[in-house]
Amino acid sequence: LAEVLARPASASAHRISAAGHAHIDSAWLWPLRETVRKASRTFANVTALARDYPELVFACSQAQQYAWVKEHQPHIWERIKEAVAAGQWSPVGSMWVESDANMPGGEALARQLVHGKRFFEEELGVETEEIWLPDSFGYTAAFPQLAKLAGVKWFLTQKLSWNQHNRMPHHTFWWEGIDGTRVFTHFPPVDTYNAQLHARELAHAEKNFADKGRATRSLVPFGWGDGGGGPTREMLERARRLRDLEGSPRVTVEKPSTFFAAAEEEYRERAPVWSGELYLELHRATYTTQAKTKQGNRRSEHLLREAELWATAASLRSPSYRYPYERLDRVWKTVLLHQFHDILPGSSIAWVHREARDTYEEVRAELADLVADAVTSLGAAEGLVALNSSPYDRVQVVELDAEAAGVLPSGARVQELGEGRVAVPARSPGLGAGLLDGAAVPERAVTAKASDPGDLVLDNGLLRVVVDGDGLVSSVRDLVAGREVLVPGARANLLQLHPDHPNHWDAWDIDRHYRNTRTDLTAADSVSLVEEGPLRAAVRVVRSFGKSTVVQELRLAAGARQLDIDTEVDWQESEKVLKAAFPLDVHAERSTAEIQFGHVHRATHDNTSWDAARFEICAHRWLRVAEPGYGVAVLNDSTYGHDVTRTPHPDGLGTTVRLTLLRAPHSPDPHTDLGVHRFRYALAPGAGVTDAVREGLALNLPLRAAVAPVVPALVSTGHPAVTVESVKLAEDRSGDVIVRLYESAGGRARARLTVSFPVTEARITDLLERPLHPAVTDEDGLVLDLRPFQILTVRLTPA
Ligand SMILES: [Zn+2]
Repeated sequence: LAEVLARPASASAHRISAAGHAHIDSAWLWPLRETVRKASRTFANVTALARDYPELVFACSQAQQYAWVKEHQPHIWERIKEAVAAGQWSPVGSMWVESDANMPGGEALARQLVHGKRFFEEELGVETEEIWLPDSFGYTAAFPQLAKLAGVKWFLTQKLSWNQHNRMPHHTFWWEGIDGTRVFTHFPPVDTYNAQLHARELAHAEKNFADKGRATRSLVPFGWGDGGGGPTREMLERARRLRDLEGSPRVTVEKPSTFFAAAEEEYRERAPVWSGELYLELHRATYTTQAKTKQGNRRSEHLLREAELWATAASLRSPSYRYPYERLDRVWKTVLLHQFHDILPGSSIAWVHREARDTYEEVRAELADLVADAVTSLGAAEGLVALNSSPYDRVQVVELDAEAAGVLPSGARVQELGEGRVAVPARSPGLGAGLLDGAAVPERAVTAKASDPGDLVLDNGLLRVVVDGDGLVSSVRDLVAGREVLVPGARANLLQLHPDHPNHWDAWDIDRHYRNTRTDLTAADSVSLVEEGPLRAAVRVVRSFGKSTVVQELRLAAGARQLDIDTEVDWQESEKVLKAAFPLDVHAERSTAEIQFGHVHRATHDNTSWDAARFEICAHRWLRVAEPGYGVAVLNDSTYGHDVTRTPHPDGLGTTVRLTLLRAPHSPDPHTDLGVHRFRYALAPGAGVTDAVREGLALNLPLRAAVAPVVPALVSTGHPAVTVESVKLAEDRSGDVIVRLYESAGGRARARLTVSFPVTEARITDLLERPLHPAVTDEDGLVLDLRPFQILTVRLTPA
């Protein structure tokens, strides 16, 4: 045998960079606390093995798991530091956890990178240069730009080998994001992130490698995951024998960064380009399963935005106020942890999601407390104000509880809503606070009246909405555009129930065949007019189906170009999916869905297998369909799953947009999503992309009433397509103000950033707030000249 093992590999043999690895899910079929033990055992094992095998290199992601071990097992932490120093341990991934890569909001995905990179740099002196997400369920097209702005050069994925229908044409490629940034990406052809270094795996990697003939290298992560201990002696012995062996790829145990540098060097100019999202043709139900976990994430992201904004304002206005760095840091890390790719997607056991609900409630309470503290420190109160944490000026009707209503000045124009609650018109600058005195009265009132047989008509001069005797929306007339919004004869806000029995992966998957059977929930227990203007009109619809009930309020406010739909469902179904349908008379070739720092388009037809595979899609706060000159957006406050289909009718072609509201899978949580859910969505006829961006933010960032001073806009751009994502103090605690903004319409934007406080220096930084170059300024402020979807982080030093 020695003679056989001594024969060298051929000169043209495929080159494999093998990196020891242990894919440890931060929670899944076990709770978070068990992961602390899994990580500790694995890390102890690996550091011991490293002493016997000097060539071992262990690639380890997820800063959170390091932080746990540092806290709970300091002696193992010391051994990790030694292994890093010896070059045997390679921190990878650049993120706080291996998060879901569809649903985290823009700022949250940025913070995954900020906190991940900072941890590795501060604790281990390593600047990580790759994103490592082998197991996430699809990858947002926002990633390439975020990677580049975080100082990341390379991207690793694996999951796309699970695609049901289409094979990715490349294993090594430039991945181009929505803004045009490209990141060098590798998708290991070995088709696993838990390889054993068996000869057959390596032969598969070589044979499967789509770029062979043009490139010679691929990566193989090897080792047992999820507490199994990572690489073993057997694997390392195999690696030794496969270093240079006839008939086999050449195997070198080395760092992923060494692989990436060599692969890029070899293939840089010739590597193909994949543009847009890396959609996983599987696990499409992860946009919907465990609705409360999703809602917890969405609420937390927006409350964090509010807390940072008002804490920044308080810091600038009140010398005695102390910015809550520690508390915000801790809450952010909690929210980032829960974006892990089996928590936010809803694929963990009941225990994990039960704890997540409690944790999100604690996060909500703590952030409410932080906001209240900050608002109290804004200065001497001037009365009841409406705090607007969205970057856009707003004029809208808001609802006040009895306590806030009691503070309104006498003579305020209100509409009584019962139990002391009132509706009142509000006007407030973006990122500021306006006096809530009931003076901002809309030009026209909203009216509500009964019409022909059983119809109720809500009309505010902008929209005329007809709700029929079944409680369904039978007409939406856009009075500004002069057109009917719905497909002729069709009814909107139609709740539809499908059986939902995926062939595999209960919590993860919705299979196309779910559409074969459908029940339209047309029967209503009651339909009643509950608000009749002049500021708000609303119809309440109650339905029962199966063991479930749903109460919806369809609401039109004076001055609003959208119909709000508040929903409360007591969901008691088994293996069913609930959708809300909007058949729109819009001839749309594609749908447009909000993602992190921008949007993506997807075909509404099934022409190719790639289009057909996208039968369930992810959107953030809005999804829009349009024909030239006219579009309609559907907004939501906590829903991610959607589907969009073409709807032919005798006069042409319409487009049906559906929100995927709730599922009821049995595994791994046998009682997934049973219970009461409350959420809101809205139909916005005539909405352009900038309208959808603005109203999506407004729906997720309700105006907050408080007794406080009037606050002029902290910063503003006055440009509808320049969207401020975040206002905060710098992570280095210098007191500098960080403003992160982006171009949100997909075009060019020239604007000025006007700042309401004196500034001595303005610099453009990367995501980690490290200065890149001075900002361009003139006498009127900071000059912004943005490319489509460009993200800009501005660092302002207050005087
Ligand atoms: Zn995983």
